[in-house]
Amino acid sequence: MTKEELFEKNKALLTKYLPEKSVDTICDWIFEYDFKLIIKGDRKSKWGDFKVNEAKRNYPIITINKTLNKYAFLITLVHEIAHCKTYKEYANKVESHGNEWKKNFQLLMQEFLNTDVFPIDLLYVLRQHMKNPAASATADVQLYKALMHYDETPNTYVLLECLNDGDKFIYNNEIFQRLKLVRKRIECVHIKTQKKYLFSPIVEVEWVE
Ligand SMILES: [Zn+2]
Repeated sequence: MTKEELFEKNKALLTKYLPEKSVDTICDWIFEYDFKLIIKGDRKSKWGDFKVNEAKRNYPIITINKTLNKYAFLITLVHEIAHCKTYKEYANKVESHGNEWKKNFQLLMQEFLNTDVFPIDLLYVLRQHMKNPAASATADVQLYKALMHYDETPNTYVLLECLNDGDKFIYNNEIFQRLKLVRKRIECVHIKTQKKYLFSPIVEVEWVE
């Protein structure tokens, strides 16, 4: 397959997952940063990841959840491409979400921080987020909520006891993950601080995934 044919093939595939005005740039970057992109079924634990295939001379592989809405998909993909760029520049010599990665993420996202790509409400929250991007978009509750707003299936309020272990939810504007039943209470972890708390099973929470 020629480079042009591959570009068109990637473009046809990615049009389903990305905001229209971001597709060409992403297709260019697949060549420029030279990685394999795998679009996978939903993994609850994370939206995407970056690794290298040691058996293939450290060829970079990026995996993204296909159930993400197009804005979350783009942000997650650019987050992972920033890992790829950082890996090519520094190999494993720097922190995975350290300053080198942050700079690359900011640089790459700059391309998309406009109203051709993002709706204005999301753009506003995203610009704030990009000033000092966290290791995960889900650690920024404002961004997380703004992104969820564009999901086709809206969030719903449920009792914590109705969720499964591993599910994430919003309580008091913060994101938690349900861990396990401890006697009559439910142990949950606050995503941002990784601190654990015990909740009443009948507390009402907003289920996010
Ligand atoms: Zn990361």
